[in-house]
Amino acid sequence: MTDESVVQLDNLKQRAMVCTACDLSEKRTNVVFGEGNPRSPLVLVGEGPGDQEDKTGRPFVGRAGQLLDKALLEAGLSRNHVYICNTVKCRACDWREGKPYNRPPTDEETITCRQWLVPQLDLIKPRVILCIGAPSAKNLIRRNFQITKERGKYQPCEFAKTAIATLHPAYILRQQSATNDGGFSLLVQDIQRAWAAAQKLLEQENLSQELQSTLEF
Ligand code: SF4
Repeated sequence: MTDESVVQLDNLKQRAMVCTACDLSEKRTNVVFGEGNPRSPLVLVGEGPGDQEDKTGRPFVGRAGQLLDKALLEAGLSRNHVYICNTVKCRACDWREGKPYNRPPTDEETITCRQWLVPQLDLIKPRVILCIGAPSAKNLIRRNFQITKERGKYQPCEFAKTAIATLHPAYILRQQSATNDGGFSLLVQDIQRAWAAAQKLLEQENLSQELQSTLEF
């Protein structure tokens, strides 16, 4: 990512922060644009912010986010190694008797919010996208993606050289018990796989640039 693209990404964020393009803007506290290392070859994309993310303006900071941090650590990484964002930038919830109840974003909200996601990914140009959970994979890989059958496999993706989908940490938390890790080891494995692919693609690019400069010389 060039210095100019970093500036453009910041400009995009400033515009997204005041977006009112869909109804989710009415009750949100913060737009959760994304954070991390925009020069990273690996971008993690979830579905949308929840309560804690809405309060703080940061992606994956609730219980599920803490589990994601733990998985990153077990994979030998931290948030500084990757960039993390969501397909939808504002919290989706229904309000009943003054209380918010989380719900998945509608197709219309998801499509409307692509006006931020698409240029965000275009600027970052990740080598690999790790889709966190089925909704993200359906959005970025293909609509009929089946997470149980297809997670952990390299998939074609419009926004990166390849994409891999993994289990959502919130799902893992629901499945965990004293004798079952709920799929946590698969999450770690998929992060490692995505990171290894991103590093390999970077190495290939560097090699090809070196070769090109040798030929020009
Ligand atoms: S969800 Fe996306 S499109 Fe809707 S208001 Fe928030 S930033 Fe804008």
